Amino acid sequence: MDRTAVAKMGAVASASVCALVGGVVLAQYIFTMKKKTGKKTKIIEMMPEFQKKTVHIKDPARVEEIICGLIKGGAAKLQIITDFDMTLSRFSYNGKRCPTCHNIIDNSKIITDECRKKLLQLKETYYAIEIDPALTIEEKYPYMVEWYHKSHALLIEQGLQKDKFAEIVRESDVMLKEGYENFFDKLSEHNIPVFIFSAGIGDILEEVIHQAGVYHSNVKVVSNFMDFDENGILKGFKGELIHVYNKHDGALKNTEYFKQLKDNSNIILLGDSQGDLSMADGVANVEHILKIGYLNDKVDELLEKYMDSYDIVLVKDESLEVANSILQKIL
Ligand code: C5P
Ligand code: MG
Repeated sequence: MDRTAVAKMGAVASASVCALVGGVVLAQYIFTMKKKTGKKTKIIEMMPEFQKKTVHIKDPARVEEIICGLIKGGAAKLQIITDFDMTLSRFSYNGKRCPTCHNIIDNSKIITDECRKKLLQLKETYYAIEIDPALTIEEKYPYMVEWYHKSHALLIEQGLQKDKFAEIVRESDVMLKEGYENFFDKLSEHNIPVFIFSAGIGDILEEVIHQAGVYHSNVKVVSNFMDFDENGILKGFKGELIHVYNKHDGALKNTEYFKQLKDNSNIILLGDSQGDLSMADGVANVEHILKIGYLNDKVDELLEKYMDSYDIVLVKDESLEVANSILQKIL
């Protein structure tokens, strides 16, 4: 054999060895990755509630890690921070929109038709801004303040009577999400603190959860509460306004509550708006936080944004099944 032939054979042999080694390394890598990813999402893969088409998760391994942390911490470390309208309450039922706390009054007989018309006009203008995918939170913020000021001023003009609220809630189409009994009862049974943080109307919200039989002693409501005169007639609103996009400020005003819960460093946060993501900003000591977001409207335009900010996104989901399945594992 001449020298070139030997050199050629040598090159072929070393290329084959390289290919072989490369192949083995690649196979090993795929095997390890499979093993790793398989292991990393073992819990959520085994939960049927997570297999539904409505559940969207950008980073399943991260969600698995957080859930593991929550399970490890158990009841002693857990607290819930949740929005109300369109998160605990339904967005729609049988294709028909369900009311927010405000809408329970807007649709009721305790306001005049003229006032109703004005409130609905405001809703058309400002709700479109609230959910506009093209606007930033900063851009939406002043419009939300405007909406609340205008609509609350109209309610005050109407001289609403507090003692009519039970009736208008009973007659309304408001509904809590499927599985709410299980959700509230389990949290009450284990004495897990539940912070309902709502830019709705506190007096109406409390009446809704009272009538549903779930206003247990572990539940605290922070919202816009009405101020009534000595005859029970609405004269204004107490405290500073909470609107959809200033929950960060409201959260920081409740640091006393969160200080008492300094050992409850594991949080499940539930919301439906980008504004709800800041609801836990007042918590001093966060070990694990799982953010679950309901995406009810403008799904195609907003899904990516929601998946970037919420750990779990539930699209047009009218139930608390996913949260309940996680609580089942923790408690
Ligand atoms: O409980 P949550 O923070 O979700 O309550 C805020 C909701 O109240 C917003 O989603 C907003 O659309 C609604 N709202 C309303 N009428 C107003 C002001 C706010 O329905 N006048
Ligand atoms: Mg909401």
